[in-house]
Amino acid sequence: MGNETGWNFDNSYARLPETFFKPCEPTPVKKPEVVKLNVQLAQELGLDAALLNTKNGTDILAGNALPEGAEPIAQAYAGHQFGGFNKLGDGRAILLGEQITPEGERFDIQLKGPGKTPYSRGGDGRAALGPMLREYIISEAMYALGIPTTRSLAVVSTGQPTFRGVDLPGAILTRVAASHLRVGTFQYAAAFCEVDELRALADYTIERHYPDAKEDENPYFAFLKAMIDRQAKLIASWQHIGFIHGVQNTDNVTVSGETIDYGPCAFMDVYDPATVFSSIDRVGRYAYGNQPPIGNWNLARFAETLVPLLADDEKQGVKLAEEAIGTYPERFYTYWLEGMRKKLGFFNEEKEDETLIDDLLEIMKKYRADYTNTFVALTTGCLEGMVLFATAEFKEWHKRWQERLGRQPESDKAALERMKSCNPAVIPRNHRVEAALDAAEKGDLSVMEELLVVLAKPFAYSEDQAEYQKVPASAAPYTTYCG
Ligand code: AMP
Ligand code: MG
Ligand code: MG
Repeated sequence: MGNETGWNFDNSYARLPETFFKPCEPTPVKKPEVVKLNVQLAQELGLDAALLNTKNGTDILAGNALPEGAEPIAQAYAGHQFGGFNKLGDGRAILLGEQITPEGERFDIQLKGPGKTPYSRGGDGRAALGPMLREYIISEAMYALGIPTTRSLAVVSTGQPTFRGVDLPGAILTRVAASHLRVGTFQYAAAFCEVDELRALADYTIERHYPDAKEDENPYFAFLKAMIDRQAKLIASWQHIGFIHGVQNTDNVTVSGETIDYGPCAFMDVYDPATVFSSIDRVGRYAYGNQPPIGNWNLARFAETLVPLLADDEKQGVKLAEEAIGTYPERFYTYWLEGMRKKLGFFNEEKEDETLIDDLLEIMKKYRADYTNTFVALTTGCLEGMVLFATAEFKEWHKRWQERLGRQPESDKAALERMKSCNPAVIPRNHRVEAALDAAEKGDLSVMEELLVVLAKPFAYSEDQAEYQKVPASAAPYTTYCG
């Protein structure tokens, strides 16, 4: 097939030892049609969006044809799922290859839902349209929020039903990622491979994502600490915007520090650390408030995998792994506090800031305040429409906050700009996402398109966003599914 589209693959992962993947091809689908194409992302990747939208292009996005230079594989990995260790692998994803962009950057191009792979176990290797569009919407919203994330290049419908208790329209998402290396990839190497293979994986990952670590006297130790730092920063950024991942299994934790796997994720409305949306998370393991400690637990599993590389002597390796993992709580807290100060417009640091932040969160929880809209209101100064704002506790807190702002040299206007730059005016509200998906499943894409336009500028504070800031009238609990 000709390559005017701009495909430019260099497939470094496929050059790793064979244990890390299995070659496998997508299974063709009946009637592929582009439902949504990310024109801007296509351009960034050096791809011609118009050609992706032709029959040939659609065939590639559906797995009915392969782009020039592709070497389709399914990746091996393992992982702790809700605390239990399993051997996994890409059961419904196929990596086509790594696209090198005009800027020289490298991105995985992966089809999600392309049919069975050698790792599918009992699954069908397929995906339904609703969840794939959901991933598209939320991953692109995360990107616009400035949070490291995998992205979505396209969703194509397959023209075939996908059985999930009932027949649902089938679809394939093209996922774009810095890589799909996971904590679970290292767990696979540590549990099922030779040390040489583990080392090859670590060297490869360092080269691809942590080249600075090579300069260190112990590159594996430097790699481990840097990876812990990226995850601490990532999870802090989730907390800042009220994002609940929902399935923080170790196979869903990237080594690159990107958010991955938008299955049961959702944004919190009312502030409550116990918030859980996922139907399968019955004990709240992955509740909003548990994300930071679960991150710590997941990174401890990661640190363990590197023990054989950290030192020749096992005891020394364990000691270094423990030392590195011991830095997580403070790394996380530092990022978290820095972001919370910013959300309140602080430029400098005062010792009492922590109390001020904690007190606000405490009353938000007590009066069931909407997380996003509380910070929007503090930013705009329009303190109306929420029970919280009428309480004596809030008024007392507000006075302390104003005094605190008054003590810093920067102007109120500067503080406001600072707040605007990090407190999103709009997030993908659950009821909005559902409305967009409902319409899309009925063939009307306009609701989703409008939503995507609004979500692309979360810090705009423009008038057309007002509708999208509203919380649902009914407080009915929202449930998410893995899809
Ligand atoms: P997840 O919960 O999305 O992280 O998926 C966990 C594991 O289940 C991964 O190894 C997936 O590849 C696999 N999996 C999920 N859905 C399917 C499916 N429909 N067919 C085959 N494998 C699947
Ligand atoms: Mg996953
Ligand atoms: Mg998933």
